[in-house]
Amino acid sequence: NPIIFWHRRDLRISDNIGLAAANQQSDKVVGVFCLDPNILNSEDIAPARVTYMIGCLQELQKSYLEAGSQLIILKGEPTQEIPKLAIALNAQGVFWNLDVEPYAGERDRQITQTLKEQGIPIQTFWDQLLHSPSEIASGANQPYTVYTPFWKNWISKPKTEPVERFKNRETLTAKEQEAINQAGAIPLPTAKDLGFIWNNKLILAPGETAALERLEEFCNQAIFSYKEKRNFPAIDGTSRLSAALKFGAIGIRTIWDATLNAMAGSSSDEAQESVKTWQQELAWREFYQHAMYHFPELAEGAYRQVFKSFPYDNNLEHFQAWCEGRTGYPIVDAAMRQLNSTGWMHNRCRMIVASFLTKDLIIDPKMGERYFTQNLYDWDLSANNGGWQWSASSGMDPKPLRIFNPASQAEKFDPQGDYIREWVEELRSLPTKQLITGEIPDSQRQKLGYPLPIVDHKIQQRVFKERYNQQKVE
Ligand code: FAD
Repeated sequence: NPIIFWHRRDLRISDNIGLAAANQQSDKVVGVFCLDPNILNSEDIAPARVTYMIGCLQELQKSYLEAGSQLIILKGEPTQEIPKLAIALNAQGVFWNLDVEPYAGERDRQITQTLKEQGIPIQTFWDQLLHSPSEIASGANQPYTVYTPFWKNWISKPKTEPVERFKNRETLTAKEQEAINQAGAIPLPTAKDLGFIWNNKLILAPGETAALERLEEFCNQAIFSYKEKRNFPAIDGTSRLSAALKFGAIGIRTIWDATLNAMAGSSSDEAQESVKTWQQELAWREFYQHAMYHFPELAEGAYRQVFKSFPYDNNLEHFQAWCEGRTGYPIVDAAMRQLNSTGWMHNRCRMIVASFLTKDLIIDPKMGERYFTQNLYDWDLSANNGGWQWSASSGMDPKPLRIFNPASQAEKFDPQGDYIREWVEELRSLPTKQLITGEIPDSQRQKLGYPLPIVDHKIQQRVFKERYNQQKVE
């Protein structure tokens, strides 16, 4: 009888811990992916993300065929569909890789119980992180709530090497094939079939091959100047691997290996520092996932008391203007338009727009977090929540207030105005200084069809600080 390997956010057959373990324990392994209506029918789903995911699944199906097995596609409530398939196949076991998200945890608990009742063994693994949440703890055996000590501990721990690529040894019988069909296997739908239309190009093509190629390209060059260039949104200076990491189109150990090779091949101290800076970003990803695992209440709202019932304005017209990139602040509008057209936004700009929404428009970060969820193709609950809590100063971070001035951010990180020109077409003809300072006379704005600033940064900054101090006292 086969072992069923259930793919969730590990859409690849190389360097996949759970799949490799199944492969070691049985000659016959079959993969399954369940299209979950709880996720796909949610209001908070981005067409770009579904398009990327389906693209990954298309490649995964091919990889399974080449490896002498198949990827079964199911559609429906996973808590029912997965046990149904396991029972139909009389599976030797069901294996999967664990996830930190509260929804996944609850779903997995239910499935574990059903399978146990049916006498079908399960095995689970940590795969998407270099270190599982229980591996990194403070001296007092508590989870870290601050990044720097987390990083020190995390980097000091030995890391495992990529595991072997899946290769099946025994094919399914005709009877097993029939059981799969009976259990409701369907052909893989397209994103369009599922009702999602995304006509723009994705920042990174879906699938394992594109992710591996991008890693190689990045580690051959841009990684060595990452530290210097990563903050400039007009430059292609970051890896753009975020969606591949979110859906596990690439294994984290494979990525880590590439950083070690890059480190060994670094020709200068600066190059080494750059590789280390990128490694630190990978650790931020793990820090936020650990935080979500240990403190699932983070997903619900502010972590710090002072922000738990903060008097936000939540002006819906302002929110709409922010969403559409019509705030009258060029750097903010450029960033929001990049998100709306590509499903991706540069990290520096994510911080700028999040600060602007929460500190200038004084809008609840949950609203911005949700808009990101609805639009990012690389959306990840932990990273998005961590990023928003950091920007809103509502998270675990010790530094209380961080208010970005949009003009100084643009001056520092888009000094030639290239990024603003790329995304805010109506301002292209303006001199750079006007673009980055946003000091554009009202009459000129009107002529160009560009909005007046919806708020005044200086005033809003004061208002926000006053409210914050007031809340702290109460
Ligand atoms: P690189 O700079 O090449 O970094 C490599 C990888 O490290 C990234 O792909 C990502 O997996 C991880 N990483 C980098 N920075 C961070 C970080 N600050 N936190 C967590 N992981 C990080 N990242 C997401 O993957 N999904 C999100 O939904 C998301 N939402 C965000 C929301 C806000 C408000 C902010 C400020 C940041 C958010 N980030 C999110 C983090 C970061 O912006 C993106 O990971 C990064 O821009 C992706 O581009 P890249 O792959 O080129 O990153």
